[in-house]
Amino acid sequence: MREFRYRRPADVDEAVALLGEDPEAAYLAGGTNLVDLMKLGVQRPDLLVDVTRLPLDAVEPLPDGGLRVGATVRNSDLAAHPVVRRDYPVLARALLAAASGQVRNMATTAGNLLQRTRCYYFQDTGKACNKREPGSGCAARHGQNRDLAILDWSEQCVATHPSDLAVALAALDAVVEVAEPDGTRDVPFVKLHRSPGEHPERETTLRRGALITAVRLPPLPAARRSTYLKVRDRASFAFAVGSVAAVLDLDGDVVRDVRLAYGAVAHRPWRAYQAEAALRGRQFTPELAGQAADAELAVARPLTHNGFKVPLIRAVTVRALTELAESRA
Ligand code: SF4
Repeated sequence: MREFRYRRPADVDEAVALLGEDPEAAYLAGGTNLVDLMKLGVQRPDLLVDVTRLPLDAVEPLPDGGLRVGATVRNSDLAAHPVVRRDYPVLARALLAAASGQVRNMATTAGNLLQRTRCYYFQDTGKACNKREPGSGCAARHGQNRDLAILDWSEQCVATHPSDLAVALAALDAVVEVAEPDGTRDVPFVKLHRSPGEHPERETTLRRGALITAVRLPPLPAARRSTYLKVRDRASFAFAVGSVAAVLDLDGDVVRDVRLAYGAVAHRPWRAYQAEAALRGRQFTPELAGQAADAELAVARPLTHNGFKVPLIRAVTVRALTELAESRA
């Protein structure tokens, strides 16, 4: 592992300034992904700016009925928060589906969103990877790509985003609060992560040195009926092969509102707008849920080894929505 310096800033402004001064610096929060990648030589920061002591660890109800989640709130604390469990069960379930209890105790809200892909080739410094080393090629494109993207990939990168939490936040229309060198701004969650395009090394729309300070959840009464279903190769401590976050609001049998997002299918959490449009205003049936998933997945382009993800995501969509519809009784 490369030698690095360590700083613990007194406030957010100092943290952002430290990153701005050093192009090879990185923020350190729970360290559950970054430290692993440093050991592998995939990330080689020369300065770690530890943000865990900044006052960003509160979960606060907002006057509009929403919730503000500080960037360093630990995943276990957020999953156990009574308002999250009551008003946003999709979020609690996504968090509890991720990693192990020990990892969730360390991992933070912002760190979870900024974790790197688990593409094998990204983590192997002996393999070609445009994300790790721009211009070197993509060993996964015609290699072991079973776990990788079926939507929105490019010839430069076919990786998926690994976060479960991010899929739930995409469905909930969350907003990310960001501190940058020249002030603060809000980023709609669905605009935080990028498609790979020509530059898969750029994973978010954040500027260099930007620090996520909080995530705001809008008031969404319909989210009390919400869920997260994750398919993985073993029952715990495994990344998703495919996942679905779903919110369903029915008026009688008619879909008044619906939110759907897919995980492990693209370089970013995938908000399923086409499926939502196919459901809204229509009488809910499992068959309609399947047709809605078909509408979303019509643009899927499976790779050599992951064609199974298309029927898998379809089936999980039907199951998630049907379970929510039946839970009204
Ligand atoms: Fe690298 Fe992306 Fe290709 Fe994986 S899919 S090897 S992360 S460029």
